[in-house]
Amino acid sequence: MSDPSASGWGSTRKTGPGAAASPKLLLRRLRQALAAPGDGQERLNQIVTLIAQSMAAEVCSVYLMRGQDTLQLSATEGLKSEAVHEARLKIGEGLVGVIARDGRPVVTAKAREHPEFRYLPETGEERYSSFLGVPIQKLGRTLGVLVVQNERPMSYTEEESEALALVAMVIAEMAEAGTLIPRASDDDSSEDREPVHIQGQGAADGVAIGPAYLHEPKLLLPNPIAEDPLHERTRLREALTRLQTDIDAMLDDDQMDATSEHREVLETYRLFANDRGWVRKLEEFIVSGLTAEAAVDAARTEARLKLRTATDPYLRQRFDDMDDIAQRLMRRLILPNDDDRAMPQDGAILVARALGPGEMMDYPRGTLSGVVLEDGAIGSHAAIVARAMEIPLIVQAKGALRGVETGDSMIVNGDQGHVHIRPREDVISAYEEKISLRAQEKASFAALRALPCRSLDACEVKLYINGGLAADLPSLDESGAEGVGLLRTELHFMLNKTMPTREDQSRFYSHILDKAGDRIVNFRTLDIGSDKVLPYMKQPRENNPALGWRAIRVGLDRPVVLRMQLQALLRAASGRPLRIMFPMVAALAEFEKARGMLLEEVERLDMAAPPTDLKIGAMLETPSLAFAQKRFFELADFISIGGNDLAQFFFAADRTNERTAGRYEVTHPAFLSLIRMIVERCDEAGTELSFCGEAAGRPLDALALAAMGIRAFSMRPASVGPVKRALLAADLTAMRIVAEEAEEARKRVRDALIEHCMESLIPI
Ligand code: PEP
Ligand code: MG
Repeated sequence: MSDPSASGWGSTRKTGPGAAASPKLLLRRLRQALAAPGDGQERLNQIVTLIAQSMAAEVCSVYLMRGQDTLQLSATEGLKSEAVHEARLKIGEGLVGVIARDGRPVVTAKAREHPEFRYLPETGEERYSSFLGVPIQKLGRTLGVLVVQNERPMSYTEEESEALALVAMVIAEMAEAGTLIPRASDDDSSEDREPVHIQGQGAADGVAIGPAYLHEPKLLLPNPIAEDPLHERTRLREALTRLQTDIDAMLDDDQMDATSEHREVLETYRLFANDRGWVRKLEEFIVSGLTAEAAVDAARTEARLKLRTATDPYLRQRFDDMDDIAQRLMRRLILPNDDDRAMPQDGAILVARALGPGEMMDYPRGTLSGVVLEDGAIGSHAAIVARAMEIPLIVQAKGALRGVETGDSMIVNGDQGHVHIRPREDVISAYEEKISLRAQEKASFAALRALPCRSLDACEVKLYINGGLAADLPSLDESGAEGVGLLRTELHFMLNKTMPTREDQSRFYSHILDKAGDRIVNFRTLDIGSDKVLPYMKQPRENNPALGWRAIRVGLDRPVVLRMQLQALLRAASGRPLRIMFPMVAALAEFEKARGMLLEEVERLDMAAPPTDLKIGAMLETPSLAFAQKRFFELADFISIGGNDLAQFFFAADRTNERTAGRYEVTHPAFLSLIRMIVERCDEAGTELSFCGEAAGRPLDALALAAMGIRAFSMRPASVGPVKRALLAADLTAMRIVAEEAEEARKRVRDALIEHCMESLIPI
């Protein structure tokens, strides 16, 4: 930021006693004015008057967000006072709405000629030609818009725009801290304490009622304007020193392996914490009149704005690291005793912007009853972890963080994507009823457990569960599944802060086999990369991580880790059968190589009781493998279709991107014919085949896949009951005919299948 005090701020329009004041002076005046007693509205009025005077502007107005998508004129100097609290604009409407939507300033000398101009007659603004508006933002969230206007067509300078942005930043902090308008938690009668309903996307089924818990505590700045810049600079330096000491202490930790990747991450953090450019920027903000914490926040907000337009993954990563450091520094400044932060109450509903799968597992099992994310995607691994842990999860719940405080009552409905914050009593009762109905339904599924899973036309179908945590194993008995069709071993790695040793792994796999007893377990070797990141293993920066260096590719290139895992598995299975499969195999040669590596480890095995029966399989997750040489199908003892990745690559649709993830369905005729082909090739080679993507757990999709010949499915435990109930009531031959006829008649296959299920009373 250039030093705004050096600009000719307002110098061309000296109209009143305060004209040509520097932003620093304005901030000082604001601080004096705001120190005096007064309610939020009086403060807002003072702010607009002071800005108008200082900038020699005829109009200065503040618009604040009310609800999810409306901006309300909340104070003005120069426009008609009757319009305050009356004039409203939707996000995207008029210049003010566009600023809120895009999060960028708009400046024009001829507002009326601007294509987005929208005239609000109640304000009397038609006289004003020049317009400069900046968003009032905090960390990428728009809280309102600050505008100055002048009658005469003229251009505002870049310095003026930057200085107005600085004032907007102060207003954002004050708005968030509740010094302008009461913050949500401070006034139960305010509009913000009303019940809020948000429609997101359900990513893990289930319904929960519980108290909200914010993953990142809201850091409210007590006062963004500094009284004594020198004192603020000292505070900043002290906090930076403490931050560096914290990082050094982590690096000195005896547990930290000198070569670990985690160490590299921390060293990068240390570099950032010492970054001269960053520290200089923070000091500039302090010189402009902000407190140390407001300066850190201003730098973060500025960085997030830049991030919106950055596409370079390296830059994005750097921003993320920087943002993390800034958050730690803010905590050091605002909450010196933050380490004592209370863990959530049992049954809490976690609310966050985004969450990695590892972060979710940091919460002790049983603590969370639901998770709500503002971002996130249904196909992400965080969602898979939530489903494995049977925690209802909502993604894309836009605005959730704005509306909620830790401790607010909440309901999440993962089946339909509803989030209720501070729901009314009648809504709570309706959901309590729903929760009790679900419990009854669960009991009815339990009654199906003992029945063989056979369709009406006598097709035997085997149902397995997907797992990854030791705590998944009790679900085998509860669901009546035949075994674990997919054990995602990476979840165990993700739970650990450092790479688990061979002995750790072996103990874990042995425990899984003990619990499974006679039932089979398909251990899938480490599937990392893409959105599954191990904190202690450096992941290269890639433009397309889903298509990048992941899964078996990492295993083959870095055989030490894969070999160690194979040894651990072989040891764990001592005297018992063992099934191992490799993820993301794209070509026969890869399978041959991985299989060869495993056989070498068997040869080297120095054990009294090696595994009794070793079966080696592959996940079929890339279309190329469906077309592999016949030898692949002959060599594999078993194949499991990873439908999540297979559909992602088949349709070229990123499973973690909400714009593309829901676009294609497994009942699409093209996907069904791929499945038919894989079934035929496995039948021909006599190879065991199963399907373990998320679609296996959706009754309609499972029926369609079974109708194409799949006879084994692996799914999250909660889906076993519903899928079995559907299979017991279905005639798979009839369903195949329905699908084929629909395809011929150019009808949507999914619609035809749904219609058939309705007519035949198949519960889907
Ligand atoms: C799949 O891709 O369908 C699969 C089961 O693997 P994951 O979801 O763990 O990538
Ligand atoms: Mg996969």
